[in-house]
Amino acid sequence: MIADFRAVLAEGFPLEADIVIVGAGPVGIALAEEFEGDSLNVLVVEGGGVEIDEELQSLNKAVVAGLPHTGHFDGRARAIGGTGRLWAGQCLRLDAIDFESREWIPRSGWPFDGKTLAPFYNRAETFFKLSGAVYDERNYGLAGLEPPHWLGDGVRSQFTVLTPEINTWRYHSRRLRHARSIRLLTHANVVDIRKNPAGNKVDSVYLRSLDGAGACIRAKAVVLAAGGIENARILLSSRGQESEGIGNRHGLVGRFFQEHPNGITATVFPTDVVDLQARFRLFYHGSIRKFPKFALNPALQRLHRVLNCNAHLVFEYPEDSGLNALRRTVLALRRRHLPEAPLQQLRMILRGIDQVGGAAVRRFVEGKSPLATPTAVRLQCYLEQAPNPDSRIYLTHGLDRLGMPRLCVDWRLTDLERETLLIMTRAVRSEFASAGLGDVRPEPWLEEGGDGWKTKLKDCSHHMGATRMAGSPKDGVVDADCEVFGVHGLFVAGSSVFPTSGFANPTLTAVALAFRLADRLKGRLSRMDAGEVEAVPSSDGFATVSS
Ligand SMILES: Cc1cc2nc3c(=O)[nH]c(=O)nc-3n(C[C@H](O)[C@H](O)[C@H](O)COP(=O)(O)OP(=O)(O)OC[C@H]3O[C@@H](n4cnc5c(N)ncnc54)[C@H](O)[C@@H]3O)c2cc1C
Repeated sequence: MIADFRAVLAEGFPLEADIVIVGAGPVGIALAEEFEGDSLNVLVVEGGGVEIDEELQSLNKAVVAGLPHTGHFDGRARAIGGTGRLWAGQCLRLDAIDFESREWIPRSGWPFDGKTLAPFYNRAETFFKLSGAVYDERNYGLAGLEPPHWLGDGVRSQFTVLTPEINTWRYHSRRLRHARSIRLLTHANVVDIRKNPAGNKVDSVYLRSLDGAGACIRAKAVVLAAGGIENARILLSSRGQESEGIGNRHGLVGRFFQEHPNGITATVFPTDVVDLQARFRLFYHGSIRKFPKFALNPALQRLHRVLNCNAHLVFEYPEDSGLNALRRTVLALRRRHLPEAPLQQLRMILRGIDQVGGAAVRRFVEGKSPLATPTAVRLQCYLEQAPNPDSRIYLTHGLDRLGMPRLCVDWRLTDLERETLLIMTRAVRSEFASAGLGDVRPEPWLEEGGDGWKTKLKDCSHHMGATRMAGSPKDGVVDADCEVFGVHGLFVAGSSVFPTSGFANPTLTAVALAFRLADRLKGRLSRMDAGEVEAVPSSDGFATVSS
């Protein structure tokens, strides 16, 4: 069932649930669907409405300190389906090394290794209609191409695989509409979380809509799945019982905020530009697209004591080419609006009809990207960011229309990121030279002193780390089961729990973690139903008492 919170409130709504899931983005949806047909009473509360609208989007406005950061606003959707309405759909698993504690990266590592997540990655791939996806050089063979012959130990081939279900909401709305055990309320923004009087267990969430409707829902378990930034904001804003917010005894909520910093680090002068386009532009496998990239080998990361990093080639085509006009039009239509100056785009497509026709044959008959003459080929790197307590999001004194404190985003980078970019770019230069692919000329800013390099990198709406997972409350906000230290029954789902975040696009991992959490929640709640006494942590997160 899907309903508008404002309407059901007027009709008298049962204000209790076994599980309240906050947010209906890809993570909240994946989690909720796991309870379909279950006897548990699951309520999803989604702050947004059916469409993305300006008033609701304005709730995402924040102040920026630190480095420029645009994705806190442009890169989030307060609507049903969440940012899954805007995303590109690239999926990739984290590497084994991303889970390791690496002594040259302070506070790196997860409380479990990559193998623990493997079965949940399989389920996440099924959720995104990518069962059996492979992310390595086997994709070249599947496309009938020879992989690049990397000769050194610098880089390895790697692909992101794009889900054909790019609008998560469109594909899952039908299932949720008909799910009997799941209720989903729109326009229901959580503004506060309450604990029991002993302060060691979640009790309820407070909901508010923009027109002032409000209600309190009691639940046995609450899962925050409100996105990488908002999860931290909700915890920090819940100050009714503890002035520093919930789960924030050690002042860690909002800290270690990570992105995947990215930028152009070199220009490539290809030996054979046709061959380069064939190997490094999108491959098409039916409705599935695969994006060829290359990643820094773990051995080199260890040798140079740097972070994880990957890169791809950007082929720049003349702005007025038919292909570029077609690309702009397809991108706009995918977002359900017209491209800028639609008639002009149409004219450019028609003028370049031969090129566009050739592109269509390559795309639909051969499953390959179009060939054209680029004006330039660039190397674009995406890298892991070191966990840094000073890179953080925190509350300001300003309030939004719901009365919630607005955030300040203070995104910061360290020298380790610059060092990683240097090592990666040099590795690509020597690999491209030895494989005969071309001459890679690094950007001068990479080698210059000072902080200028930081302005060459951008954020990319991958919001991670602000409610990090750890083995102890002194090191993180949630435990290995995503439960907030010291608050029994309060969980966080999504990329905000990543302690370190590799370079892989985060959503597949976030959904895999949601499936892991679903299994644990089912086990726990069925034990409670059977009358078993639960061990409840004391509010400092260490000792245990019986409830
Ligand atoms: C342009 C773009 C391209 C991207 N491309 C990729 C990609 O290719 N691959 C990838 O892995 N990731 C990509 N991402 C990131 C990806 O979109 C996010 O990782 C993903 O959407 C996170 O899912 P989520 O469910 O955790 O959060 P969200 O999708 O942000 O959903 C959170 C939900 O919670 C709701 N909510 C927020 N606050 C409240 C509240 N107080 N009460 C109730 N509900 C609330 C929101 O309305 C929203 O529906 C991209 C993002 C952008 C902007």
